[in-house]
Amino acid sequence: MSAGTFGESGADLRLEGIRKTFPGFTAIEDLDLTIPAGSFFALLGPSGCGKTTTLRLVAGLESPSAGRILLGGTDVTDVKPHKRPVNTVFQSYALFPHMSVLENVSFGLRRRGIGDAVGKAHEALRLVELDHLADRRPSQLSGGQQQRVALARAVVNRPALLLLDEPLGALDLKLRRQMQLELKSIQSEVGLTFLHVTHDQEEAMTMADTVAVMNRGRIEQLGSPEELYERPRTGFVATFLGQSNLLDATVVQSSGGVVTARTAGGVLALPEERAVRTSGRITLGVRPEKLLLHAEEPPRDGSRNVLGPGRVTDASFTGVSTQYLVEVPEVGTLAVFAQNLVFGAVYAPGAEVWVAWDREHTFGLEAGAR
Ligand code: ATP
Repeated sequence: MSAGTFGESGADLRLEGIRKTFPGFTAIEDLDLTIPAGSFFALLGPSGCGKTTTLRLVAGLESPSAGRILLGGTDVTDVKPHKRPVNTVFQSYALFPHMSVLENVSFGLRRRGIGDAVGKAHEALRLVELDHLADRRPSQLSGGQQQRVALARAVVNRPALLLLDEPLGALDLKLRRQMQLELKSIQSEVGLTFLHVTHDQEEAMTMADTVAVMNRGRIEQLGSPEELYERPRTGFVATFLGQSNLLDATVVQSSGGVVTARTAGGVLALPEERAVRTSGRITLGVRPEKLLLHAEEPPRDGSRNVLGPGRVTDASFTGVSTQYLVEVPEVGTLAVFAQNLVFGAVYAPGAEVWVAWDREHTFGLEAGAR
């Protein structure tokens, strides 16, 4: 792919104080968001949280009730959809069935009288590795191939911003995983700004540089996939991005960058920068794969949190890991994901175990977070 055609980067997108109300319902509340040029940005959230509405506002298919939309520094809030330098790839590929792959991809360029439409379409098809199928009709392609044609058609006229609305939703799991990696590599090759909407946390984390987690029309937290996973700031983010063990606690001390808190199972500690508060009631969280099981009580040295003894109530072998449930008196049930290492210990239901983890892996949320 020559840098001449696809080497230009996209534009940055800014949403300022965006609100969207439908009769009797507020879908988006006071949304402020900046998406840097050339980044792969994901809006992640459950059904109904306002992702598609946000995308439709950016595309110009809906008008905001308040706020401004700026693309590359230009206010496009009142610009008609077809005048915005924005393209959208939908879950339904919406290819023209009576046209060949090549005609589908070159259609927009030809209609706008842009020179060398066919050459540019071939180049976009090479990008998605489908140039050899340029003469086929969409009905003669697999779902994944149709999706790639839709992508080639969307990038061929180099929009400043590409919107992806659950574009992989119609594909089976294996193909979806493969396409996630391909989309990511295409994005880094074309350098356009991608705004991707999905309810699939793994998909968002696999592809995007930055993820905004949306809940009820608001952004709960924004950050890199690692930040959101390792340092969730709300119970919603902690549980939406994977499993978490959550424990109610009361802070007993905060000094030297370490917060200690009392739980029903004993005192636990965490780094101050991972706690939303340093006094009063707090909810402590830790991901299941950070926990280690021990047959003997491990020493409570300065860097470790320990709970137990407890009893294994369930052990499920899943291939890469074994997923345990451990019942700890006063504390409740903890989920523990243990890697199936060659020399790893295996615990059967009924086994007495202690649960320990590096306190660096503990995060502290507002009290009552679930
Ligand atoms: P999904 O993943 O299911 O597509 P979403 O996060 O994309 O969900 P939106 O489609 O943005 O959610 O919808 C957000 C909320 O706004 C929903 O409660 C929806 O019912 C409501 N909504 C969307 N469009 C309209 C409309 N035209 N009139 C009234 N309410 C609407």
